[in-house]
Amino acid sequence: MAEVMHCYRHPKRETRVSCAACGRPICTECMRQTAVGIKCPDDARLPRGARAGVMKPNQVLKTLLTGAGIALIGIPVVSLIFSLPLQLLISAAAGYGAGTLVNRAGGRNGGPLAIAVSIAATAIPFLVWLTPAALAGSVSTFGVLAAIIAAVAAGFAGRGGY
Ligand SMILES: [Zn+2]
Ligand SMILES: [Zn+2]
Repeated sequence: MAEVMHCYRHPKRETRVSCAACGRPICTECMRQTAVGIKCPDDARLPRGARAGVMKPNQVLKTLLTGAGIALIGIPVVSLIFSLPLQLLISAAAGYGAGTLVNRAGGRNGGPLAIAVSIAATAIPFLVWLTPAALAGSVSTFGVLAAIIAAVAAGFAGRGGY
């Protein structure tokens, strides 16, 4: 148990103390005494019960990166979906899968960011696919419906943590 760790905020400082909430090592300058033990400043600042839906900065970053990745991969996937039968069903499944990935990337915290990123990551490929048709004045109700279904499924999966 006495292994030496390094403060996550000061990588050069050695410490044997870690946060009771998130487990990250913290140095004596960073540690905060709370009713439930020593915590890092991030966790000490949060009132009890506020952790649901709250992400650490690296989880926010992973959520955004995953969202961007899904949006990029989604562009060819969406055009593939529209060449298959059962588009609406597949759109819903694809949206749900995207939301699940985003939720996992955010440490399964859920919350508004995970939901927003899930919906955006799913909606962007559909928008890219639908925009040329919309500009030409020939957007299909079916395509819009598929986009909405996928975005709703993504938001549902992204919220996670219930
Ligand atoms: Zn912490
Ligand atoms: Zn420190």
